[in-house]
Amino acid sequence: METYDLVIIGGGPAGMTAAIYGARAALKTLIIERGMPGGQAATTFEIANYPGFPQGTTGPDLAMAMFEQAQNMGAEFLNGEITAMDLQGELKKIEVGSTTVLGKTVILATGSEPRKLGVPGENKFRGRGVSYCATCDGAFFKDKDVVVVGGGDAAVEEGLYLTRFARKVTIVHRRDKLRANAAAQRRAFANEKISFVWNTVVEEILGDISVTGVRVKNLEKEAKGEPSESVLNTDGVFIYIGQIPNVEFFPDSLKRTPEGYIETDEHLRTNIPGVFAAGDVRDTVLRQLVTATADGAIAAMSALHYLESKE
Ligand code: NAP
Repeated sequence: METYDLVIIGGGPAGMTAAIYGARAALKTLIIERGMPGGQAATTFEIANYPGFPQGTTGPDLAMAMFEQAQNMGAEFLNGEITAMDLQGELKKIEVGSTTVLGKTVILATGSEPRKLGVPGENKFRGRGVSYCATCDGAFFKDKDVVVVGGGDAAVEEGLYLTRFARKVTIVHRRDKLRANAAAQRRAFANEKISFVWNTVVEEILGDISVTGVRVKNLEKEAKGEPSESVLNTDGVFIYIGQIPNVEFFPDSLKRTPEGYIETDEHLRTNIPGVFAAGDVRDTVLRQLVTATADGAIAAMSALHYLESKE
């Protein structure tokens, strides 16, 4: 059974940056990742807003570069699903199938994933008109029409952001009231480029090579027995119906928000001594590559200080 100074769970940008900082500080460092390195970032084809790449880069290229950098620093990788973990006590125990590793510190960097609509066409047109990230993909929709699905802060704020590029932004919401904060609502209602389609759900995303429209259903009309289905023509669909943090196997004793995100202090310490959280899985205000990598650095340095305080 191998013992590490630092075990990082999740090999996205937060986890890999934590590994770069941890290994460079001479901590014996392991990253456990269930899929390919890179997390959500690796699934974004074009990344235009990560500093240092004036021509942009691609998610897979950036992920592989981070992976290589972490390995060059001496971090080890273990590919597999966590099957159990015990984070209490001085040595944290993590099981990956039949392999057990021990960590003096642990950084939880498992990320989150966008909640899916689960309608036909959603997966097929992902990256070809269907997006979960206006900051990443909004610029591709210059002078085009886009639909935003959802009624929370993300849908309204990202809908507002999309008006910088798009000719028209149509927010489709399943109720007749937004959940978003009042200030964002006021700005959206005052914005000439934004219109709302209320009490309506998306049933299918339509397209040929890329998205051409969405088939929608008006729930009020349906309840009255009136014809309720129609097609909205659009070039893109931005889905903002919430995020799901990846928190399987985390103990109940780990303090989390009602939505499941891990609560930390500004040193990214969780309520469990020696356990830190970084990136999208953390309760935070911005979920971007650049904030995830910053989190990774802070969490690794906090882990180092924790270990030093024990010497
Ligand atoms: P959210 O607040 O959970 O809102 C999700 C929205 O999607 C709700 O309006 C909900 O409708 C709708 N929805 C959920 N499931 C749906 C489905 N299956 N079909 C159709 N509509 C569905 O999520 P969020 O806007 O992503 O925000 C997440 C957290 O980040 C919140 O705490 C938010 O305050 C915070 N935040 C995000 C941003 C941002 O991303 N720009 C900015 C500031 C704060 P109902 O209203 O009917 O439930």
